[in-house]
Amino acid sequence: MTAETKNSISIIIPCYNEEDVILETIHRLTHVCSAIDCTELELIFVDDGSTDKTRKILKSCSEYDHRIRIIGFSRNFGHQLAITAGIDAAKGDAIILIDADLQDPPEIILQMIVKWREGYDVVYGTRRERLGESYFKRASARLFYKFLNSISDIPIPLDTGDFRLMDRSIADTLRSMPERDRFVRGMVSWVGLRQTAILYQRAERFAGSTKYPLRKMLRFAMNGIFSFSTKPLQLATTFGIISAVLAFIGILYALFMRLFTDIWVEGWTAIMLAILFIGGVQLISIGILGEYIGRIYNESKQRPLYVVQEYIGFHKDMPATIRDPISQKP
Ligand code: UDP
Ligand code: MG
Repeated sequence: MTAETKNSISIIIPCYNEEDVILETIHRLTHVCSAIDCTELELIFVDDGSTDKTRKILKSCSEYDHRIRIIGFSRNFGHQLAITAGIDAAKGDAIILIDADLQDPPEIILQMIVKWREGYDVVYGTRRERLGESYFKRASARLFYKFLNSISDIPIPLDTGDFRLMDRSIADTLRSMPERDRFVRGMVSWVGLRQTAILYQRAERFAGSTKYPLRKMLRFAMNGIFSFSTKPLQLATTFGIISAVLAFIGILYALFMRLFTDIWVEGWTAIMLAILFIGGVQLISIGILGEYIGRIYNESKQRPLYVVQEYIGFHKDMPATIRDPISQKP
């Protein structure tokens, strides 16, 4: 993309029950937007089925700021699909993803745009520090990304969330990736091209509480692992080989005791251990298979990724770039 075509910017903000913070977010974002040198700019708020006043507040703001557009989901589909819907609808030469809770400072966007104009296709924010997040969350996130990198074929940057700028070309490639269990940051790494990081300090949530309880975080981590690696499948084979070797040693031991000693009635413990161990290995292996089969099943249903109840603020000529909510085709 040449410098002349780097003119329009889309900022995508996924929101789920963010009534306490959304006004402040709009305020901070519009302030930053006034410092951006570009011909066109749009703020796409994806309301992920909020049950509070988030959508109402967004609607009233869109009435006086024509750059605000809203994609209202029919129910909660999750953060990753909210981002996906935003990317599908965005028409900017650069597309920026930012959380609604102001943990990612909007001011960093200006630095991202500078890097993009220097020629990078992806500029992602890497957290130097994470304020106000529990030790457990920080430690588990670190451990997860280390593990993910060790088993995945493509490197996924550490301490990096979805706060990033990506060039139109990356967004177009993402739009051609129809997978259902989406792990957007991994998908962006998979695309490649020129990617760089900006270090920043992750702030505390401005207001409200996290929308990622442990259950959702685990599901998200599982998506990262199972959508980006088939190594766990090979793990089942490794378990099998280990248990077969142990079983063979056990058989030799049992035969020896039976033939050459007279203490062979004992050994209940050994039998129990063997049964429990092999049972455990089998269950883990079946579980791993289940994760992949579940994903194949999900893909085979060919359902739309998300259902949009309403598009607000998009121009008449814009919906051409929006996926048809039923067929998901552009
Ligand atoms: N979010 C969403 N749908 C969800 C959960 C979260 O759109 O089901 C949004 C949320 O409003 C926020 C962003 O995704 O803008 C990140 O969520 P959150 O701040 O709760 O996650 P955390 O920063 O605690 O990991
Ligand atoms: Mg947050």
